Amino acid sequence: MTCSPLATPEVGRGLGLSPASEPEREVLTGGVLPIVPVGHRAPGRGPDQRSRMLNVPSQSFPAPSSQQRVVSGGRSKVPLKQGRSLMDWIRLTKSGKDLTGLKGRLIEVTEEELKKHNKKDDCWICIRGYVYNVSPYMEYHPGGEDELMRAAGSDGTDLFDQVHRWVNYESMLKECLIGRMAVKLAVPKDYREEKRVLNGMLAKTQVSGTLAKEGPNSPSYDWFQTDCFITIVIYTKQKDISLDSIIVDHQGDSFRAETIIKDYSYFIHIELSHEVEEDFSVRVVENVGKIEIVLKKKENTSWKCLGHPLEKHNLLILKKDTGLYYRKCQLVSKEAVTHDTKLFCLMLPAGTHLQVPVGHHVYLKVTITGTEIVKPYTPVSYSLFSEFKEPDLPNNKYIYFLIKIYPAGLLTPELDHLQIGDFVFVSGPEGNFKKSRLQEIEDLFLVAAGTGFTPMVKILNYALSNIPSLRTLKLMFFNKTEDDIIWRGQLEKLAFKDKRFDVEYVLSAPTSEWNGKQGQISSALLSEFLKRSFEKSKVFLCICGPTPFIEQGMTLLHDLYFSKDEIHSFTA
Ligand code: FAD
Ligand code: NAD
Repeated sequence: MTCSPLATPEVGRGLGLSPASEPEREVLTGGVLPIVPVGHRAPGRGPDQRSRMLNVPSQSFPAPSSQQRVVSGGRSKVPLKQGRSLMDWIRLTKSGKDLTGLKGRLIEVTEEELKKHNKKDDCWICIRGYVYNVSPYMEYHPGGEDELMRAAGSDGTDLFDQVHRWVNYESMLKECLIGRMAVKLAVPKDYREEKRVLNGMLAKTQVSGTLAKEGPNSPSYDWFQTDCFITIVIYTKQKDISLDSIIVDHQGDSFRAETIIKDYSYFIHIELSHEVEEDFSVRVVENVGKIEIVLKKKENTSWKCLGHPLEKHNLLILKKDTGLYYRKCQLVSKEAVTHDTKLFCLMLPAGTHLQVPVGHHVYLKVTITGTEIVKPYTPVSYSLFSEFKEPDLPNNKYIYFLIKIYPAGLLTPELDHLQIGDFVFVSGPEGNFKKSRLQEIEDLFLVAAGTGFTPMVKILNYALSNIPSLRTLKLMFFNKTEDDIIWRGQLEKLAFKDKRFDVEYVLSAPTSEWNGKQGQISSALLSEFLKRSFEKSKVFLCICGPTPFIEQGMTLLHDLYFSKDEIHSFTA
């Protein structure tokens, strides 16, 4: 390969790049959406072809009729009519029905035109430069028609991002696609410079057409080589960087490293100029905020350049604007934990370094009848006795999930049916829990309901192994029945082994033999549970479960004089 410049520049996000996942984006930009004037039919772009170009979303949990939908505030969900579930929507989109009224044509939409379509039965919405006719979707929208109408005839991107930026709407609304907004592509100022061959000597100014001024100090990178190795060095200029701050995906000649620096992501994305081995090592020098990624050359030749910049290379982008990047992971084991919950173990690809921080989740993406379904799941440790190593081993190749299978659910039955060796796409981590909040605490309270236990697993492991000041760690675990209690045996063993730890179960639908606590979350239960080890001890509390459970819990906790700084609630 020669070192002539070639780049995929970062273009305006509203101009045609799908945000949901980069592999999908390739389809969108590679096969660039054909824009035809009104009245012309784009050859060969029937619904089927468009399906392949645009891909999915879904967030319809709790289910329409679930008691979990009875939400008192915040982002409420509405009961949907019979026959209006996400699966019903997928069926409709596969029926071949013309959902845009344009018989497969894609048109270029002006702002004036968009504004005209602002009624329930004629409602167009623009998301990231693409215009959708959402009228057919109204009755299927878990957030209700009124929520959708807030963006009628206008650009709904911000509204969409506020509510569920991870939802893969391209796939969900692919049959509703009207076309693209009529706007010119804006090329970032330093696009030409970005196109230069990467020689590791990039000037600081190049780090940023989109470098946010209010962001952290501009990170930068450099590289050097020996006969056998190429070392890429990322200078984050932050001290709290650890092995879970960097995600690397290396496949063939494509090398992508995303460094998470506070609310931003800094990308190194390169088509390498020479071949390297799939395996690499990552090292973090915490006190100076330096990350070193060492690649092994396949041939001991001297490289003249590192390679060519690809999308987002050398840019620092607000994390909420980056979109999710998925890698293909293989199911290596699946074992029953309770009657309806299983422990899934997924193996990351050999060229991936990804460690999900404590209290963060990822998105799993699976294609169901041609539509991509994406839902969040919180990785756990293999068991409550996995020692939490700090930093985690860099070669940790497995991710574990505790997943409850809902027989009438959309995604979990699919996960349940996966065979060992099958693949699932896993995104990078998301979440706002900071383990630094656990530093120096003396009493840690965990309040979990059902699978709301999952974020507690790593928190528990981490706190017991890494917080020397910790005196007590108490888990109050709400479930319907005894059979629903996840890892009950392990919890009890841990309570026996570690005197700091204690667990209390509360059942909402116990059998008559149950003589423990029962009922739903209440002031009486909480006030008895939240006993400090001494007056004015430094406390912290985490709460997770169904939305109404969290909402009720938060109100009760405030009444019990827990301040906002002392609580972390895991919400959707
Ligand atoms: P859905 O299709 O959403 O259905 C859920 C329930 O509704 C089922 O009981 C189903 O029977 C019922 N239902 C579906 N459709 C209808 C209908 N039309 N009428 C009546 N009832 C219906 N879950 C985990 O198990 N483990 C985790 O680690 C985990 N982590 C999470 C992290 C976060 C940040 C969040 C927000 C959620 C997490 N979840 C986790 C929940 C997960 O994302 C899914 O919501 C859950 O797995 C349900 O998915 P599903 O598609 O199978 O079910
Ligand atoms: P579940 O239906 O088995 O209920 C478990 C317990 O939650 C019940 O026994 C009850 O005490 C309480 N509960 C349920 N509905 C309630 C309501 N309407 N009001 C008050 N209390 C209620 O729970 P599940 O099926 O395991 O669901 C777990 C929930 O946790 C899901 O909604 C899931 O999305 C959520 N979750 C969130 C995260 C996150 O990080 N945000 C992680 C994992 C799970």
